Order: sequence, then C-alpha cells, then structure tokens
Amino acid sequence: MLRQGLLLLAKSRQVKELVTRLPVSSGIVSRYVPGERIAEVVAATRTLAEDGRLITIDFLGEDTTDEDQAEATVTAYLDLLEALSAEGLSRNAEVSVKLSAIGQALPEVGVKLSLENARRICRAARNTGTTVTLDMEDHTTTDQTLETLRELRKDFPETGAVVQAYLRRTEDDCRALAFEGSRVRLCKGAYNEPETVAFVDRHEVDKSYVRCLKVLMAGQGYPMVATHDPRMIKIAGALATRFDRAPGSYEYQMLFGIRTEEQKRLAAAGERMRVYVPFGAEWYGYLMRRLAERPANLTFFLRSLLSQ
Ligand code: FAD
Repeated sequence: MLRQGLLLLAKSRQVKELVTRLPVSSGIVSRYVPGERIAEVVAATRTLAEDGRLITIDFLGEDTTDEDQAEATVTAYLDLLEALSAEGLSRNAEVSVKLSAIGQALPEVGVKLSLENARRICRAARNTGTTVTLDMEDHTTTDQTLETLRELRKDFPETGAVVQAYLRRTEDDCRALAFEGSRVRLCKGAYNEPETVAFVDRHEVDKSYVRCLKVLMAGQGYPMVATHDPRMIKIAGALATRFDRAPGSYEYQMLFGIRTEEQKRLAAAGERMRVYVPFGAEWYGYLMRRLAERPANLTFFLRSLLSQ
C-alpha cells in the first residue's frame, strides 16, 4: 500500500514542488544522486572507477513535454560523453537513457523523434568508445521501447535493453533477447503496475526474476543482473556456474548509494560490477521510486523535509 502511495505521489505536481525545495546536497537526495552537474557526476564516476567498479550514467529527466526539453536532454548526454572521454573514463562508464526524456511521449512526432535522438546519443557513445542502455519505463511503453531498440541495433548492435521481472510478459521477452551480442539488464521493476500485466506479490516477482535469469544465463547474450537482493545475486552466481559462463560474460549492477559494501566486495572478487549513477536537477521521480522500494527511509525523508 505504502509503495503504491509513494509511486502515485511520484506523479503529483504539488508534492514535487514541495519536495524539490530540498537541496540536492540534503542527505536523503545525495544518498541516491551525487549531484546536478556534469562535473559532480564525473567526480563520482572517477571515485567508483578507482576500486574497479564500472558505471552507467543516467541524466535525470522523464515526462518530457516539448521538443526543446528533449533537445536539452540530448545535449546533456552529448556533453557528458565528451566530458567522460576528456577525463579518460569512457572505458569505465556508459550511459543509460529513458526514451521519455528524449521525446517518446510527444504526440505524433514522439516515436520518430526519440529514435532519432537515441541514434545521436548512440553515435556519440560509439565515437567515444562506450555504449548506451535504454532504460525501461512503465508497461505502456514496453512494446515501443523494444521496437526502438530493434531499430537502433541495426546500426548500433551494442545497445543494451532492460526488462522488468514483475511484468508477466518478461520471460518471453528474455527468450527473444537472449541472442549473441545482446546486452540485457534484468531488474525487478520500479513502477506502479496493474495486476493484469504484472505480478504484484513480491514472492511472485522473485520467482519470475529467477525464471528470467535462467533464460538469460542459458542463452547467448550478455546478462546484466540488476538487483541488490542477496538471494538473487547468489542464484545468479550459481546459474553462471551451471551454464559454464566465462568470467566477464555477464555482470552485476546496482544503484548508486545502495549496498555500497556489496558492490565493492563483488568488484574485489573479480566480478564485473556496474553502478547506475543518476545526475541532474530532475531527481524527484527517481527519489520517490527509491523511497517506494525502501519505505524504512521515509522517516529520514520526512525529517529532511520538515527541517527546510
Ligand atoms: P528488492 O527486493 O526491492 O530489494 C532487495 C534489498 O536491496 C532490500 O532488502 C534492501 O536491502 C536493498 N534495497 C533495495 N532498494 C533500496 C533502496 N531504494 N534503498 C535502500 N536499500 C534498498 N527499474 C525499472 O523499472 N526500469 C529500469 O530501467 C531500471 N533500471 C535499473 C538499473 C539498475 C542498475 C538497478 C540496480 C535497478 C534498476 N531498476 C529499474 C530498479 C529495479 O527495478 C528495482 O526497483 C530496484 O532495483 C529494487 O529491487 P531489488 O532487485 O534491489 O530488490
């Protein structure tokens, strides 16, 4: 119930206005978002890279409502990729992109515009020696996002996909995506979805996650195991052994600020461990999804708000 309530609030303009009075430096925000500017995310990337962790960077922004906003997001990615290259970090860090942030939802032009914008980001990533992964958003966009991915892969086959274990369709999507060269991030899913399309019971979501993991680990692609759940991490390791996966033929992924010691432990053990690092001023929706996953953080959050 609390999770659903927080995810509904993620869409509220009034609450957003109230919450975004918090500075990004306040504890609850900076735990999950290292800063609003490129210099800050580059500094965080450098620190993560120092102990062998890989990085994927998300410029925060979703629900883009006009073409100028979409263009500003593309520019932010192009500037970021240039900064990573200038700092010698392109081999450590790739980027994650939400199609909604680069125009997918705009009436009539959205699909074409977001594909064109994604192409520009993929080209810049390729030119600087790195890659792009397309984040997955709510279920109404899944088909279109996978279609855009198929188009992008004609020119940029290195582009990564994301699938969400809570969706009933995802085991089939994993089968379709488990081909050679296909990079697939498997996460549980972070949006408020109806029971008609998604498992709502946590236990059912976990069972689906394991089924999807099996498909991806048994397949020919490159699984990206995105979870903080110790049981899922253990099962992923066991499946990699069972399917004779060579080291480096899959990776673990976690979010910036969550289970940092475990991230370091996996990297030190020789696993490929990638950290998802968001940055930018539009951190509200992202923060609300993190609170929904961990309502125990709510007291800390409310205290930060009240002390404003
Ligand atoms: P859970 O069962 O939720 O959590 C397991 C344990 O992790 C918890 O017990 C707790 O110890 C810790 N934990 C989890 N969340 C938090 C938190 N917020 N704060 C503190 N501790 C926490 N979702 C999408 O829908 N689309 C995407 O494109 C997407 N990309 C992602 C990329 C990466 C690299 C990762 C790691 C997640 C991504 N997610 C995405 C979010 C994902 O769907 C889950 O909502 C999130 O990862 C929590 O699920 P979990 O697997 O960690 O398991």
